[in-house]
Amino acid sequence: MPEGHSVHRLARQFSDCFAGQALAVSSPQGRFADGAAVLDGAVLEGARAHGKQLFLDFAGDRVLRSHLGLYGAWSFGGTEGFRGASSIGAPRRIGEREAHDDDAVAGPLRPPPPVGAVRVRLVGDEGWADLRGPAQCVLETRAEAEAARARLGPDPLDPLADPASFVAAVRRSRRPVGALLMDQAVVAGVGNIFRAESLFRRGIDPATPGRTLDDAVLLGLWTENVTLMRTGVRLGRIVTTDPADRPGVAEDQAWPEHAHLVYRRTGLPCRRCGAPVAGRELEGRALYWCPGCQG
Ligand SMILES: [Zn+2]
Repeated sequence: MPEGHSVHRLARQFSDCFAGQALAVSSPQGRFADGAAVLDGAVLEGARAHGKQLFLDFAGDRVLRSHLGLYGAWSFGGTEGFRGASSIGAPRRIGEREAHDDDAVAGPLRPPPPVGAVRVRLVGDEGWADLRGPAQCVLETRAEAEAARARLGPDPLDPLADPASFVAAVRRSRRPVGALLMDQAVVAGVGNIFRAESLFRRGIDPATPGRTLDDAVLLGLWTENVTLMRTGVRLGRIVTTDPADRPGVAEDQAWPEHAHLVYRRTGLPCRRCGAPVAGRELEGRALYWCPGCQG
């Protein structure tokens, strides 16, 4: 499942490449036909992300709110002008994995026939975007979209976020901090990789009940997620190792073998202490940690 950094990159891609344009909106698959009819021809005023939710704000109090879930992805294509407008390097696809475009189409825009179950297709002046397999895709008013956003915890990628509400939510709970970090009502945008890596980097045992952690530790955990997620936005990939953890391997060469400290490293020696990395399930998701470093 894409974590918050991917959705922020999506918002940036939509802002760069489609904002200010009247978009042709359709639902080739048909499951969003009514919403598409309402949006067709409307000007996209802006795009924003909160956690894993993407908000596309159209003129006339219309918001397309979507969540990719486990299987969803946005794919993009367009002319050389479309590629040039993208500040994140014109990805072809942002979803579980991100792929980058090497061959933009020359000449006028000709979107290809939709392939597979395309829930929504947006076509602008220079490019198009297709949404497939989302967990959620709804048309809302601004007020409805804001109500949905208000149900989420603060987003570490929001420069105006208040970490105090994250700290308070964790300290109210007996649940393990490893579970609370994945609860989007506690903190929005953290997924399985940021969860494992931020707890490791702060030396926190994921099984620790939230209420037993003090404010300073939780503010540190928040700050760790801010740092790791900003790196994710910059690179388009989650790289959490420090240079000392991957001697001789540059940041942009770290993916995938040298990118993570404990995520999917069960049984391998910890990069910091050498103890075998542990893995188990917590609330249905795989959890990774180092018993040596996170005692
Ligand atoms: Zn260790």
